[in-house]
Amino acid sequence: MAMEAEARPIIAALGAVETDCAPPLPAKFFVARVLDCEVVVAINGRDPRHDVDSIGTEAAALTTLEVVRRFSPDVLISAGTAGGWQSKDARIGDVYVSRGEFVHHDRRIAIPGFDAYGVGSYPSVDTAALAEVLGLKQGIVTTSNSLDENDDDRRMIAINGGDVKEMEAAAVAYVAELAGVPMLAVKAITDLVDHHTATAEQFAANLAMASSRLAGELVRVIQFLMGSDESPVGNRRSTS
Ligand code: SAH
Repeated sequence: MAMEAEARPIIAALGAVETDCAPPLPAKFFVARVLDCEVVVAINGRDPRHDVDSIGTEAAALTTLEVVRRFSPDVLISAGTAGGWQSKDARIGDVYVSRGEFVHHDRRIAIPGFDAYGVGSYPSVDTAALAEVLGLKQGIVTTSNSLDENDDDRRMIAINGGDVKEMEAAAVAYVAELAGVPMLAVKAITDLVDHHTATAEQFAANLAMASSRLAGELVRVIQFLMGSDESPVGNRRSTS
């Protein structure tokens, strides 16, 4: 997760306890047990130079690599807030799970081969059953390092069919694929990209509500991943 405010409700809901950090990274790690599974909530931490949460792709990739090396997870979840589109029936507070592939919409490299590398297209686990059973929306998660979008971003998002716009998931998915760890995203909508109100204003107004909705659904997602016969990462209940 990128921001402490996004993570606080799920840390509280799980009763997760902070464990050793990983210098020189500012990332923080909180560990909880859910049934027979260890759940690690990793947040990117404060940027030491600018004293704000380390949002965006670089910190997300570094934190993910640290999580993979230290905890050897069975599954990775990029969890947080995101923008959605009214034109695609998104509502503030909706919680989406990732569908299909994770894409970047701000890496434009017009050289054969590198164009596709720029987009990324890293796989999500199949969340169809999870979304249906839990009643969550599914969408293609599209990542950039900007909160707003320009005309080039809009064009890329349209081509790639992006439904959920945020700043970390494709970077987490990149590391997950390198490490061979199944990965999905769970994202709560704080703002509507095609609404006349500025994104930053909507984000500030809805961050607390969306983060609390996110925590509630994350608990259900974790339980589904561990316990369901339809779990896309295998049923842990039968292996315990
Ligand atoms: N201005 C905020 C900073 C949040 S930036 C503050 O001062 O607290 C947005 C964060 O929320 C990123 O981590 C990103 O993943 C997510 N996010 C929410 N809505 C987004 C949108 N419309 N576009 C991009 N990222 C968004």
